[in-house]
Amino acid sequence: MSIATVSTQPIGRFAPSPTGELHLGSLTTAIASFCHIKSLGGQWLLRIEDTDTERCDRQFAEQILIDLEALGLQWDGDIIYQSERIDIYNDYINSALRPLTYGCQCSRKDLEQYWSQEQQRPHCTHNRLPPNRHRYPRCCVTADLDRQQHKLRIQLPNYRIGFNDGIQGIQWDNPQQTLGDMVVRRQDNMINYILAASLDDGLQQITHIMRGLDILPMTTAQISIMQAAGLPAVDHWYHLPLICNPDGQKLSKQNLAQPIDTRNPSQLIAHALKLLQQPTVDRDTPENMLKQAITQWDNTPLQHKHQLNLPNL
Ligand code: GLU
Repeated sequence: MSIATVSTQPIGRFAPSPTGELHLGSLTTAIASFCHIKSLGGQWLLRIEDTDTERCDRQFAEQILIDLEALGLQWDGDIIYQSERIDIYNDYINSALRPLTYGCQCSRKDLEQYWSQEQQRPHCTHNRLPPNRHRYPRCCVTADLDRQQHKLRIQLPNYRIGFNDGIQGIQWDNPQQTLGDMVVRRQDNMINYILAASLDDGLQQITHIMRGLDILPMTTAQISIMQAAGLPAVDHWYHLPLICNPDGQKLSKQNLAQPIDTRNPSQLIAHALKLLQQPTVDRDTPENMLKQAITQWDNTPLQHKHQLNLPNL
């Protein structure tokens, strides 16, 4: 009798959206997820999250690969480009996720009107919420609108889901309260990022996800989507503190964080490891510095931290 074997090798990934070049924030995520999964003897996969065709650019994706290679961050296996997998996401939307998804015709303007009317009503419970926290009021949930002609929303569960975050500790969150019935496919057929990430993390059998804290509010939605899609659960979650300017502002493409300069890769690696509060490594080639960082990798100094500030120069 043959017994099917399940791989027990840890699998992690780095999943940048090529909406700009790598900056120190995204670089620390790459280095941390690489060193951590390698310290467990695992594989580090690379996935380019480029479903948002308006904001993503192939040139940025190419530059990200060049930078990772210059820094000795060598990924395992083939790179996945989400823009080439749209049919796979639509297959899930039309099969396993079909009972949970529905067409919606509410425009942003309709919803703004809805909420401003709600707020004027006496004893309205919603008016304690700031306007941007308004969740979709489910006007179309039973309307049975044509799925191809409209954007699609997914019904997220209205109960708390818990998971143990290896950096931030035990987390509980109700995805319906936090996100509401979020849009998973726009009317122009663009697939929402968290839907694609959830399906790919399951399909790639990712066991360890280490990513920025900015994505933590979407994690229970991801857990419920993966479960509804019948995909294997991610066993280990880690949300890294965000890298911030000395004044506490998060480094991001939106606030024009400087792209990394890989002309001195060893210095860049030393800088990122210091920011990540790891023991120092000897100055060497990027590959050798990373090898040493892997043997010394320790999540403890990051525990329960929400941000890491760059020093004042
Ligand atoms: N693509 C996301 C980003 O670049 C990261 C997604 C994830 O790690 O789950 O911010």
